[in-house]
Amino acid sequence: MVRIDGKAVAEKVLAETKARVGELARRGVKPGLAVVLVGDDPASRAYVRSKDRKAAELGLHSVKHELPAEAAQGELLALIAKLNADPAIHGILVQSPPPPHINEAEVVLAIDPRKDVDGFHPVNVAKLAMEDESGFVPCTPLGCIRLLLEAGIETAGKRAVVVGRSMIVGKPMALLLMRRGPGGDATVTVAHSRTKDLAAVTQAADIVVAAIGRPHFLGAEHIREGAVVIDVGINRVADASVPAGYRLVGDVDYDAVAPKCAAITPVPGGVGPMTIAMLMSNCVLAAERISGP
Ligand code: NDP
Repeated sequence: MVRIDGKAVAEKVLAETKARVGELARRGVKPGLAVVLVGDDPASRAYVRSKDRKAAELGLHSVKHELPAEAAQGELLALIAKLNADPAIHGILVQSPPPPHINEAEVVLAIDPRKDVDGFHPVNVAKLAMEDESGFVPCTPLGCIRLLLEAGIETAGKRAVVVGRSMIVGKPMALLLMRRGPGGDATVTVAHSRTKDLAAVTQAADIVVAAIGRPHFLGAEHIREGAVVIDVGINRVADASVPAGYRLVGDVDYDAVAPKCAAITPVPGGVGPMTIAMLMSNCVLAAERISGP
C-alpha cells in the first residue's frame, strides 16, 4: 500500500510556483492575490490567514480584505469591482461560506473570470466542461489530479467513482477525471446522497474519490482490493486526549481501508495541503496570462 504524501507533493508544487514567481519578477510582474473575508467564522478566518501567509512566503503581493459580518451585498460587490479594476491584483477569492444574507452566486459572478483563481465563475466552470484550458480549475480537485499523477497512478480506462457532487469538489473532480489526457480518460460515475447501494457502486471502482463531509463514512465494505482512494474530507471529531479537544479525520475510515488499497491519501497530510498549493499556482497562472507572453 502506498500512502500518498500530499505534503511532499504540495511542497513540490510550491517550489515550482516560486520559480514561476521569479520568472515574472524578471519581467517586472509581481502576482497579486486578494483574499476577501466577510464575517468572523473562525475556520474561514484560519483559512484566509494561511492563504495570505503562504502568498507572502512565495513573494506574491498579498492583500487581505476583512468585512464585518453585517456588510451589505453592495459593499462586497463594490470591493470586487475595485479589485477587478486593480492592475496589481491578478487573483481574487471570496472565502466561503459568507454570512447567510450574502448572495454567493451573485458574488462569484461579479469576479472577473480572468482573476477567478478559485475557478467557481460560470465561465470557468463551462471552460472546464468544454476542456478549454484557458480557464481556471477549482483548487481541490486540481490538487487531487496532481496527486494521482505524482503517484504514477494510471487513470485512462479506469473506473472512477466520485462520491459527492458539489460545485467545489465532486463535479469538477468528475469532469477532470473524464477529460482527455494525463490524469483523465477515466470512466466516471458520480454518487451522492440519493445513490442506491453505494457500496456496490464504489466496490466497482479502481479509483474512489470521497468528497462527502462525513467522518469515516466509507469503510472496508466500500472499497475493493487494490483500489486507489483519494480522501477529500476534512471533518472535526471530538477527541479529549488532544489539547484542541478535536482532531481532523477524512470521509474514509483510513485504518480499515488502507490495508486493501494500492494507494490512499491520509487525512491530514493528503489532499488538504494541495488545495492551498494549487491556489498559489492558479494565482501565478492568472498573473502570467494577464501580463502576456
Ligand atoms: P458538500 O456538503 O457541498 O457536498 C457533499 C456531497 O456529499 C453532496 O453531493 C452530498 O450529496 C454527498 N453526500 C452526503 N451524504 C451522502 C451519503 N450518505 N451518501 C452519498 N453521498 C452523500 O461538501 P463539499 O464537496 O464542499 O466538501 C466535501 C468534504 O470535503 C468536506 O469534508 C469538506 O470539508 C472537504 N473539503 C476539503 C477540502 C480540502 O482542501 N481538502 C476543500 C473542500 C472541501 P447530495 O448532493 O445529494 O446532498
